[in-house]
Amino acid sequence: TDRLRGKRALITAAGQGIGRATAEMFIAEGAEVFATDVNADLLAGLDCETFAMDVRDDASVVAGVGRANPTVLFNCAGFVHHGNVQAATDAEWDMGFDLNVKSMFRTIRAVLPGMLANGGGSIINMSSACSSIIGAPNRFIYGATKAAVIGLTKSIAVDYIKQGIRCNAICPGTVESPSWHDRVRKLGEEMGSYDAALEAFVARQPMGRVARATEIAALVTYLASDESGFTTGHPHIIDGGWSGQ
Ligand code: NAD
Repeated sequence: TDRLRGKRALITAAGQGIGRATAEMFIAEGAEVFATDVNADLLAGLDCETFAMDVRDDASVVAGVGRANPTVLFNCAGFVHHGNVQAATDAEWDMGFDLNVKSMFRTIRAVLPGMLANGGGSIINMSSACSSIIGAPNRFIYGATKAAVIGLTKSIAVDYIKQGIRCNAICPGTVESPSWHDRVRKLGEEMGSYDAALEAFVARQPMGRVARATEIAALVTYLASDESGFTTGHPHIIDGGWSGQ
């Protein structure tokens, strides 16, 4: 219960899903947590400092980072675009890259001065198994953005390794979350059956189930803690065997 004692952790998209599960685990492990989301209402009930932060808005990011001055940053915010290349529009591409990738440029450049002054820090970026690791149907924009996150992560890791800053990416398979439930419902409408859609999602996971958000939060906690002190610059795959067969 003390694995993150002394850490100041800023989390984006902490209102629900993996971000919220991670905020709860960080609090339980003794971190001082700053849980943020574009929708501040979703942060109700978290036992830590909470405030609105929109990762698509640089002024909002700069203000939030100024308030937290974190030694741990979990870039969790992201959006799943559904469709292949022919279904994607320029506006959707730009929105996907802004929310899933450029958001991390904004937060990381804002946190670095404080982390460098502190003598180090840990940055964890949300990628996905669906990225440079594996292709998934109808994840054209999404897969491209999450592959970009891995490149961004490696670049930060190599540039700041001598200054004590570690930067890792995490690559989950399918995880139960509010937006995942929406995706199942939508695919269910397309397929004419909710159960068939659910089966299709579960079928991607050789374990025969999707992940719980807490299982992903455990990996983020490890990467935030000093236990992972020799680890930087890597995509950490946690996908129920999806890409490992
Ligand atoms: P979710 O999609 O249910 O919730 C997303 C949260 O992001 C919401 O609380 C929303 O308010 C917030 N958000 C949206 N725009 C924002 C912005 N501009 N600034 C700040 N916050 C914003 O949660 P999830 O499914 O756990 O997904 C979280 C992350 O994990 C995403 O990056 C997603 O791509 C990634 N991921 C999810 C899965 C999955 O199967 N659920 C798998 C791999 C990766």
